[in-house]
Amino acid sequence: VTSSTDWLLGPELAPDTSDPQMAPFYAATAGGVLALPECGACGLALELEQRICDQCGAADIRWAEVEPVGTVHASTLVHRRQADLIHADGPYPIVDVQLASGHRLVMTTVHRSEQQPRVGAPVRVAFRSVGGVAIPAAQLPEEVSPELEANS
Ligand SMILES: [Zn+2]
Repeated sequence: VTSSTDWLLGPELAPDTSDPQMAPFYAATAGGVLALPECGACGLALELEQRICDQCGAADIRWAEVEPVGTVHASTLVHRRQADLIHADGPYPIVDVQLASGHRLVMTTVHRSEQQPRVGAPVRVAFRSVGGVAIPAAQLPEEVSPELEANS
């Protein structure tokens, strides 16, 4: 699932897996599983940092394994790079994925790409390894997308 060197980020940018708020997330990704928070009372999909349910007001969070599939909700190409932190020598994509579970998750792609993913394209969530930590990354169908950088 993981390789030792990430195409985009150096190992010093690995996320802090001991952060108690995110520990369940990284415990799951380490096993190649995508787990996201949902409301323990009503089941609503919650944001990663969310503590109170928008729908019922409960503060009862449970982490559930979700199917790692969705579609591109929005995407952009990042042209600004900090040379000492970012390995890519060209623009790289950021994808806002609408998961089938109802969650939204922002990530880049599994492999280096300079193409902006098309909105609505199907996505499979796989993992990259940054400093040994598995983080979600979008796997997109092979496609030649038109040069529409204004559409972000
Ligand atoms: Zn709720």
